[in-house]
Amino acid sequence: MTETKPYRVLLYYQYVTIENPEEFADQHKAFCEELGLKGRILVAKEGINGTVSGTVEQTDKYMNAMKSDPRFADMVFKIDEAEGHAFKKMKVRHRPELVTLRLEDDVDPHKVTGTYLNPKEFYERLHDEDTVVLDARNDYEYDLGHFRGAIRPDIQNFRDLPDWVRENKDMLEGKKIVTYCTGGIRCEKFSGWLINEGFEDVSQLHGGIVTYGKDPEVQGELWDGQLYVFDERIAVPVNRKEHVVVGRDYYTGEPCERYVNCANPACNKKILSSEENEHKYMRSCSHECRTDESNRYVIEHGLTEEQVAERLAKIEEEAVR
Ligand SMILES: [Zn+2]
Repeated sequence: MTETKPYRVLLYYQYVTIENPEEFADQHKAFCEELGLKGRILVAKEGINGTVSGTVEQTDKYMNAMKSDPRFADMVFKIDEAEGHAFKKMKVRHRPELVTLRLEDDVDPHKVTGTYLNPKEFYERLHDEDTVVLDARNDYEYDLGHFRGAIRPDIQNFRDLPDWVRENKDMLEGKKIVTYCTGGIRCEKFSGWLINEGFEDVSQLHGGIVTYGKDPEVQGELWDGQLYVFDERIAVPVNRKEHVVVGRDYYTGEPCERYVNCANPACNKKILSSEENEHKYMRSCSHECRTDESNRYVIEHGLTEEQVAERLAKIEEEAVR
């Protein structure tokens, strides 16, 4: 099969009670650093959620150590091969919640959560007419790639999803609802919230998109585009059978899967842009952002006032044409 690469990226979570999460986070950071891992781990009283990168040996040691702790003995690690680290630093942070929903009544996935669907079952539900498939991620994640026919909630933060559902109830009412997210952690809570909200038939993709893409039978089929990931790779493939590009260049609408951040630090919006358009539009989402005095693109490229004015004139010229 595929050649083994020297590094790995691990994605994992476990909802389990962690007493003294702050202390746990400090010790866990020291442990990860000792192993040589890099990444981002969140620790809460309700559990752990992490993505780390390291060599095959380092990640093996980490997984073995975690599995020897009874709290994490059942934890599922999703493993991607990689050419190098996917992070610059090792961060372990204590947070009140593993995923930020800030609900008035918090959901404990051990008590209420949607029915788990394995990749094959999920694949079958994608063909079911009475089922609506709801993407539980943010708009910029959806825009890079999603399951064919899935609903795109118009949100930039997970915590806005409950309000979005309440405002768009008519899309979901009386239907069988299936939710999915990157690795499954967001759906554990969100599907439970949907049940508490009164929706009767709620299921979730167990292990998320990552597991679906690795499944030997479905091989990511009916996924279009790429998967947005929260590390330096940004985009990773899912569908092993075909690659349909769904991302669209922010400026021209042409097929595009390359994300950049708006160069105005106060904006920082994620925009899909070709390299050519990045330069043409000075990596900015609007005229306001392009002309902001702290524009990073202008600073990085050492553009003079005349050079900026020249580019702005060119953009304007094309806009009126
Ligand atoms: Zn902007």
